[in-house]
Amino acid sequence: MQNLLITGGSQGIGQQTAIEAAKKGMFIGINYNSNDKAAEETLSKVKQLGGDGIALKCDVSKHNAVKDMFKIFVDTAGSLDGVFNNAGTTGPVSKIHELDPKDFKSLIDTNVIGAFNIAQESSKIMIKQKRGNIVNMSSIAAEIGGAGELVHYAMSKGAIDSLTYGMAKELGVYGIRVNAVAPGLIATDIHEKAGDASRVERLLPSVPLGRVGLALEVADTVMWLLSKYSSYVCGTIIRVSGGR
Ligand code: NAP
Repeated sequence: MQNLLITGGSQGIGQQTAIEAAKKGMFIGINYNSNDKAAEETLSKVKQLGGDGIALKCDVSKHNAVKDMFKIFVDTAGSLDGVFNNAGTTGPVSKIHELDPKDFKSLIDTNVIGAFNIAQESSKIMIKQKRGNIVNMSSIAAEIGGAGELVHYAMSKGAIDSLTYGMAKELGVYGIRVNAVAPGLIATDIHEKAGDASRVERLLPSVPLGRVGLALEVADTVMWLLSKYSSYVCGTIIRVSGGR
């Protein structure tokens, strides 16, 4: 694989995946929504590590902006070998009956509509190429439900699981592999953004391996899915959750 577009590539798991891809000399599209500084810092790390790339500011929930982003990426990189469909948010930690409908809509805009926009535009390009590799970002929340804190988020990731199963069947016939990763509790800023910085500590007793996961441990799994070493893996959701 020579080039890779990562949505939400400026921070957390996406950023770590950009770093791992850079070590393999790839050209990386680092998509982000608002934090220019984080994107520029990620791009600079990518270049220091022997990769190259481009920072792509685009809210994945905006369909026309997503179309433009893919055009810029393909015009610059020449093709689209891989996509890590990773951008996402948890929305605020809240019980169902207390969640503000505005927060719910905003979550669905990013996690569901955004992920679908990326899937759709990737598909258009990869079907023409008759090759490609897509890794979607799910969460074990889709299976465990997020009761008491993040049911809204769990529901949005359930949609990613369905997207992954359906896309794998629809695109496999063109030689395109589609899989997903489903992380558990991973140490990134997402928990603080959800308004509950103590979330990781609070949930640690539920992790059989007894520790929080690292962004690198998810990035390594994504890189494996994007590599030749997983050449017959398609339509699979891999848990990266320390047994949780
Ligand atoms: P993070 O550190 O908060 O990073 C989120 C990234 O997504 C940032 O680069 C952010 O860019 C970007 N982003 C957010 N909304 C966007 C939008 N509308 N359009 C484009 N980019 C957008 O989060 P993370 O923990 O790495 O999470 C990444 C993915 O993993 C998410 O889908 C999350 O649900 C999933 N996940 C995380 C965990 C965990 O424990 N951390 C567990 C399971 C699944 P800006 O900062 O510029 O907005």
